[in-house]
Amino acid sequence: MRIHNLGFPRIGKQRELKFALEAYWQNNISQQELLKVSHDIRKENWLLQAEAGVDLLPVGDFVHYDHVLTTSLMLGVIPERFSHTLDALDLEFQIARGKSATSCGCAASDMTKWFDTNYHYLVPELAENQTFTADASRLQAQINQAKTNGYNIKPVILGPVTYLYLAQNSEANIKHLPKLLEAYNDIFLQIAHTGVEWVQIDEPILSLEIGQEWQQAIKTAYQKLQPGDIKCLLTTYFGSVEPHIDLIASLPVHGLHVDTVAEPFNVQELVAKLPNDWVISLGVVDGRNIWKSHLSKVYQWLNPLYQQFQERLWIAPSCSLLHSPVDLESEQSLNTEIQQWLAFAKQKCQELALLKTALLTQNTAALDDYSKPVNEKLASILCRNAWVERRVDGLAFDDYTRNANFEDRKKIQQKHLDLPLYPTTTIGSFPQTKGLRKLRSDWRKGTIDDVHYQESIFEEIKQAVQIQEDIGLDVLVHGEAERNDMVEYFGEQLEGVTFTRFGWVQSYGSRCVKPPIIYGDVARKQPMTTTWLTYAQSLTQKPVKAMLTGPITILSWSFVREDKPRATVAKQIALAIADEVTDLENAGLNIIQIDEPAIREAMPLKKSQWQQYFNWATKCFRLTVANAKNSTQIHTHMCYSEFNEILPAISSLDADVITIETSRSNMALLGAFEQQRYPNDIGPGVYDIHSPNVPTVDWIKTLINKAEHYIEKENIWVNPDCGLKTRQWQETKLALKNMVTAAQELRQES
Ligand code: GLN
Ligand code: ZN
Repeated sequence: MRIHNLGFPRIGKQRELKFALEAYWQNNISQQELLKVSHDIRKENWLLQAEAGVDLLPVGDFVHYDHVLTTSLMLGVIPERFSHTLDALDLEFQIARGKSATSCGCAASDMTKWFDTNYHYLVPELAENQTFTADASRLQAQINQAKTNGYNIKPVILGPVTYLYLAQNSEANIKHLPKLLEAYNDIFLQIAHTGVEWVQIDEPILSLEIGQEWQQAIKTAYQKLQPGDIKCLLTTYFGSVEPHIDLIASLPVHGLHVDTVAEPFNVQELVAKLPNDWVISLGVVDGRNIWKSHLSKVYQWLNPLYQQFQERLWIAPSCSLLHSPVDLESEQSLNTEIQQWLAFAKQKCQELALLKTALLTQNTAALDDYSKPVNEKLASILCRNAWVERRVDGLAFDDYTRNANFEDRKKIQQKHLDLPLYPTTTIGSFPQTKGLRKLRSDWRKGTIDDVHYQESIFEEIKQAVQIQEDIGLDVLVHGEAERNDMVEYFGEQLEGVTFTRFGWVQSYGSRCVKPPIIYGDVARKQPMTTTWLTYAQSLTQKPVKAMLTGPITILSWSFVREDKPRATVAKQIALAIADEVTDLENAGLNIIQIDEPAIREAMPLKKSQWQQYFNWATKCFRLTVANAKNSTQIHTHMCYSEFNEILPAISSLDADVITIETSRSNMALLGAFEQQRYPNDIGPGVYDIHSPNVPTVDWIKTLINKAEHYIEKENIWVNPDCGLKTRQWQETKLALKNMVTAAQELRQES
């Protein structure tokens, strides 16, 4: 039996790649220096995996920006607007990051989430008559580097069908398959001489509920692929492939990797359907979390399979370790008990080595020892809060609904708030200046004290309120100056949640996130936002809208304990946020926004599971606001607007106002509201905050007029399409001024 790995984090133990990339982009280091950094990261990664006991190391999993983009470059898929004479790496960065309007004005390719992870890939753009070329030189170079170091390796290639599926206009792309396969075959030819025995071909779409045409594409693809002497390990992850197992078993490949942790299924039954000369690779250690595996339990079900398959059995992490931080040993300041419950990428490789030894020797002593802290965790008082558990258990039907329906609430709120037609507001954050970031980091380091910090934030709030008053906005915000990140800010104040120092995971390109770790029952220790909001409201007669992050977003952007259902953890978070809502009301805030940008992205991969997810997710949102007074206006915000499929769920949140992103599509996406009316108020974003361009008054008016095709004007709010924290003050003021003028003119005209 062998241990192999599907991929390793690229960012380096101390995020070396991030810093090198950013230095390179700012012309502070040469390309050669950047390449030296990436060379060293690969070297260190292989060494680390080999030392941990991995027999077959992944190669080609390292990329500078994104593996889907690198695949595009390997296949010659370069959108027309970028066809310059740049070298490959600079071209890659240009497609990923765009080029500013001053030179050629090439917009970056779109980015979207990689399946249900928090990693983002660059969406391939295929022309109608796309041609493909094959250039395996990058992969070859990495193979050579690994071979020089004497490693036993397995190149990793994104499979052709998943590649087409992920590209723009997914459905229309199957027609490109024959030509694409020629390019893949050329890639195989180019790496044939390297003498690699296996190639890992990733087809994660097999874990989705794909239609007939994609199933057929898989069949065609693998019949036509000619890897020569290289054996193909068809690799799937992120879900069970049970529905497609007959199809898979019919393919002329040499082995299959399946993820055994993402979804429950009968492994024994599944692998029994595979040809009896295939390698069976089981992903037995979760590649996407930070928890230690209960190796004794894994052994129990794995050993019979080992007895049956012996040499044919391989073990691996469930998916690439890209989604896990690098090395737990870097952590010096975690609670020592909690530290024992964790395993990062390196430790996950070590877990596989422990399992292999136990299987070979049929001795489980080391596994039992290793699994001890996992058992202890289940009983640890650190994870339990009886009050919280009782509160969740005691929830009743009524706890999820507000007292009055929207129509009645709207009347009450209007009496209270006296807002004009087309009320104007923003989404929450204001520009986060260098000075502000420094202030927060100085406070964290302890170089400035709490009093100084609080006064400085108050000053920021005061300025933000003043600016909004001057501009003439109707509903003001405090600006979120105290927040580094909308989840981290709350996570740090909640019981049952902890943070690492180096637990970074790549989000896209050089961007990394350090997700909170929800290890125990979640409870609020004290009010989390009232100091800032009370102050903001004290400065103005206009209503200030308070900002909270919703339970689904906090859950989705964290590493979550596995001993309780996600729905239960989300309810705990919801109750903590609900308490904050009450405190804000008592402090005199009449408008409260609960941000839920993640509610859509947290949807399960399999459509048949959506409804169940929406049931609990929307309930959790409602739990945060069900107790709010009828006079309190509840807003929510989502950074997207492709609502067609999820409009009923969004409506069932029953927020008084929802603000969404529609400006980039010129309100076209509001089309969803034509078939299904959205019952409450909507603020369709009237300008794109992702660009520094200042929208004109006329432009904004045109957009609002368009929105009126889909929404009654009494229900329309006027706002930008997302928070303004990445913008500069100068353009922000101008844009908001135009936005307010547009609303005022429309009021006069109506
Ligand atoms: N209130 C947040 C902000 O304005 C919302 C962020 C988001 O939508 N992701 O920054
Ligand atoms: Zn947003």
